[in-house]
Amino acid sequence: MKVIYDEVQKRHHPGFFLTSGARAPNPETPARADMLFAAATKAGLIHEVPPDLGLAPAASVHTPEYLAFLATIYTRWQRIELASEEVIPNIHPDRRDGAYPLSAVGQAGYHMADTSCPIGADTYECALRSAHAAAQAARLVSAGDPAAYALCRPPGHHAFADLAGGFCYLNNAAIAAQALRATADRVTILDVDLHHGNGTQGIFYARPDVLTVSIHADPARFYPFFWGHADERGRDAGLGYNLNLPLERKTGDEGFLAALDRALERIAAFAPGALVVALGLDAYEGDPFAGLAVTTPGFGRIGARIAQLALPTVIVQEGGYACEALGANLVSFLDGFRAGHRVGVALGGERP
Ligand SMILES: [Zn+2]
Repeated sequence: MKVIYDEVQKRHHPGFFLTSGARAPNPETPARADMLFAAATKAGLIHEVPPDLGLAPAASVHTPEYLAFLATIYTRWQRIELASEEVIPNIHPDRRDGAYPLSAVGQAGYHMADTSCPIGADTYECALRSAHAAAQAARLVSAGDPAAYALCRPPGHHAFADLAGGFCYLNNAAIAAQALRATADRVTILDVDLHHGNGTQGIFYARPDVLTVSIHADPARFYPFFWGHADERGRDAGLGYNLNLPLERKTGDEGFLAALDRALERIAAFAPGALVVALGLDAYEGDPFAGLAVTTPGFGRIGARIAQLALPTVIVQEGGYACEALGANLVSFLDGFRAGHRVGVALGGERP
């Protein structure tokens, strides 16, 4: 299996965000990428730098005005007298069907959901390279690799078609799924991050060709608050093609695996031709966000069960924050996944 990653992705280095109104260091640090890359290498994955795929991967799921905003906002922000170094919004529309503002401040509020997705000088380029990693992993899997790991940083699953949020700018998992649609009629995104994959859900909410499934801490009392509830099932042609499995705070391995079994049942019934795993490692019991309580061996069991679907699989890195076991959790998932994938294939799971 390959790990797709470009060191350039480390240049994005957000300074702070607001948590309960207080200024705190932004936990989505470049050091995460070092820890995850070292772990992927330790697990025996082969490194590939993604080619420059231009704007096409991002444009496959994001709106043109949002991409133009990401490309230009940092420079425009610097022209505002006494503005902050990083672009951080301070006003938001209460609905999204009104006029589109011309001002940098207005557009920042329109395209940024919260304060945890600041835009610095290198953010746009890093987000594009992160998207290239996802798109390249999908290309490899479409071409016959059984699986590939995209070390996407910054992460992506909170990014909607026209909205950044929660450390995310471009939705890497959605980009991978859209790329896989070139060779698969139906694709599933299974999101196991601690937080609900609200951006991913939003992008595919009205579509029946991409089933979105997310297991996460109950948003009634956890980010992203406004999405991720069990009654969100999709709309229009996409009704029934979104499954949310919220878990109580501090749920451990057994509770998580029980939800995963429900997810896998739904995925099997959908019979997709390919799978994207939105792999957050922040459901870990020792993660700084402390929402769920999955153990390091638990990630291996999660990987093994997912792999038994025996589907061509793109693993896209989402959250998981600096803590002692971050690398070990990735190794555990990858080892479990590869062992399970061999079993799944041997059992005659569907392969293209
Ligand atoms: Zn997360």
